[in-house]
Amino acid sequence: MKTSPRIQLFPHTTRNKTTRSGNQLTIAGCDLTELADQYGTPLYVYDAATLNAAVQSYQLALTQFYPGHAGITYAGKAFLSLAIAQWTQRHNLWVDCTGLGELRIAAAAAVPKERTLIHGVNKSPQVLSTGISQAGTIVVDNLTELERLKTLAQSNPTNIPDIWLRFRPGAAVETHAHIQTGQHDSKFGMSGQEIVQAAHICRANKLPFNGLHFHLGSQFHIPDPIEHAIRRTLDLAEELQMGADWTLCLGGGWGVPYHEDDLPHASIEDFVHFSAGIVVDGCTQRGIPLPRLQLEPGRSLVAQAGVAIYRTGTIKHTPERRWILLDGGLADNPRFALYQARYSALPIVEPLRPNADSAWLAGPFCESGDVLIEALPFPEIDPGELIAIPVSGAYQLSMASNYNGATRPAVLWLEDGQATVIRNRESPDDLIRHDKPLPNSSTNFSSVLFHKFHGLGNDYIVVREDDLETPFTPAQIQQICDRQYGFGSDGIALDCSKPKDDFFTVRFFNPDGSEAEKSGNGLRIFARYLWDAERVGLEAFQIMTPGGEVRALVHQGGESVTIEMGKADFDSRQIPTEGAHRESINEMMLIDGQELTYCVVSMGNPHCVVLCDEISVEDAKKWGPLIEKEARFPNRTNVQFLKVIDRDNIQIEIWERGAGYTLASGSSSCAAAAVAHRLGLCDGDITVHMPGGELEISIGENFDINMAGPVAKVWQGNISEEVFDDLTTDK
Ligand code: PLP
Repeated sequence: MKTSPRIQLFPHTTRNKTTRSGNQLTIAGCDLTELADQYGTPLYVYDAATLNAAVQSYQLALTQFYPGHAGITYAGKAFLSLAIAQWTQRHNLWVDCTGLGELRIAAAAAVPKERTLIHGVNKSPQVLSTGISQAGTIVVDNLTELERLKTLAQSNPTNIPDIWLRFRPGAAVETHAHIQTGQHDSKFGMSGQEIVQAAHICRANKLPFNGLHFHLGSQFHIPDPIEHAIRRTLDLAEELQMGADWTLCLGGGWGVPYHEDDLPHASIEDFVHFSAGIVVDGCTQRGIPLPRLQLEPGRSLVAQAGVAIYRTGTIKHTPERRWILLDGGLADNPRFALYQARYSALPIVEPLRPNADSAWLAGPFCESGDVLIEALPFPEIDPGELIAIPVSGAYQLSMASNYNGATRPAVLWLEDGQATVIRNRESPDDLIRHDKPLPNSSTNFSSVLFHKFHGLGNDYIVVREDDLETPFTPAQIQQICDRQYGFGSDGIALDCSKPKDDFFTVRFFNPDGSEAEKSGNGLRIFARYLWDAERVGLEAFQIMTPGGEVRALVHQGGESVTIEMGKADFDSRQIPTEGAHRESINEMMLIDGQELTYCVVSMGNPHCVVLCDEISVEDAKKWGPLIEKEARFPNRTNVQFLKVIDRDNIQIEIWERGAGYTLASGSSSCAAAAVAHRLGLCDGDITVHMPGGELEISIGENFDINMAGPVAKVWQGNISEEVFDDLTTDK
């Protein structure tokens, strides 16, 4: 059915068909005109069948031409979204992630750890640390990075991913200079000498080094330079005595045809045949075992599956040129501007009408370089008609920008006649989502960015004090925390840090609007929020709270936080509790006709820990509010119902002052564990079991308490202008 060479550039399921919209291009049985009308333009579509076919080409060729173990890593930089990351898992592909953002997408798509690989030429400590918890393989680019990794490994020695070293073999592939990466003066990778040094460092420090990697560049069509690179890498493997269980990764870079002049094009099979043959030959010559062979394609997996659809706006004639001006360009596809990339195109309706003169297809942006295609023989076309540009699946959306306030396009997944939105078009509101007005400006721009995190049964919304024109009133806090009419939260953590300080400052508010001096879950959440904003690194840091100062340490790539909570204090004046100054231990009170034994303890905030043989939600809800407001606690108190399980485990139910019954609480865990230890019922390392999860508490000699537990990011957004306006009057 593919009659013209230009159509051959399109996805495999492309047809020139008579549809309701006329004689036109369809992909995967979907009418492109209808899609453009429904979802707007510019619009990107991905054809699932073409994606699958590209993977199968690689997989079959590896089976056919490589006798050892082999695998494929998808280079996510070509285009990664939640759906694309999920698609990789239909084929058991590994996913190469560069940076925290791509790692986040892979995690959201549940790409397993053993298939997550990290690349990057200058990886931040955050990326390395996240990599340790999330990735199965880290490709180390340089010796500085290896030192960082070594330090991280010292504090977390059991969990280090496989380490591959990225070699710069001094081989240049024929492609645009901006996408060559393997030549001697490239910024990527290490020289042979550095690789040997790095390997020794790994081995001396017991780092699991078991792979060598190179990547020569992108969009090359002549495979020959890869031979030199493979042979140099095998020389290194021999020198380093890599043993039987090592991986050789040849990177990606195999090119695709973008224009009919590029056809016919050597296939994926040709490339794999060529490369695998050299690996086998090189290993045989050296008498070294065949490595696991890993390929890392990006473009050749996804480029052909993607098509960009634009609507023509204006046709202009200048003395030398016919300009077809489209509604997208540089902002969704900067490849012409970056490397004079060459493309082709077809009208969507009546695609095979005869070509007229050459046309220059350009976008609406304020740059003369905003051109998509130069001097392409193209039919006459009218304003309003749709144009499709094939081979748009790689390095377009992943490099798209908001230039001139452009909103990035919607993306559709086409499969079996069905179109599914896999990315919504951005809205102009998205462009100001992270913006803030000038201080004291008179604009009514009053949206406030918030981040919501979950920390064991509790969630907190974190807001920066500087973003608020006026402080929150208690009624506003109640409304924000409300689960029906607000955002739903167990409290608000207000970031009051000042840039000049070398510590951070936070205040906590309960959902009833009252202030809490200190919150263990809130502190873990606040620490994670600082980590995500890259305001803290791998070192411990200090947080000031109204209930005292704590130190925090983020580990496992942000997933877990340890807080030094300070001292548990049993002095009755600290709570405070009425009566003579004393250690308030094993006292009695009569509540609702029941005699309860309790201890009081301050963790910077007051706690009354009731000792029980059995605990229940009902008792906590019945007695908690009565104890909270007991006359002996003039400032009111948090209440825990404690059951000691054994010397290392306790179980608690929690009633929080100002918040009520709660599934988990950090400072409550510390308080209850301190009481269990103080009474000699538990040792110093205690797991606290709560309905919302578990926290690890360790108690030092002077009742200095450390608390460790998980934190997860839930979402972030803006308290929109409307909601915020609604909150300005105290109710
Ligand atoms: N691997 C690495 C390290 C890369 O930098 C790239 C991109 O240049 C690739 C793989 C994928 O290259 P391509 O999309 O050209 O296959």
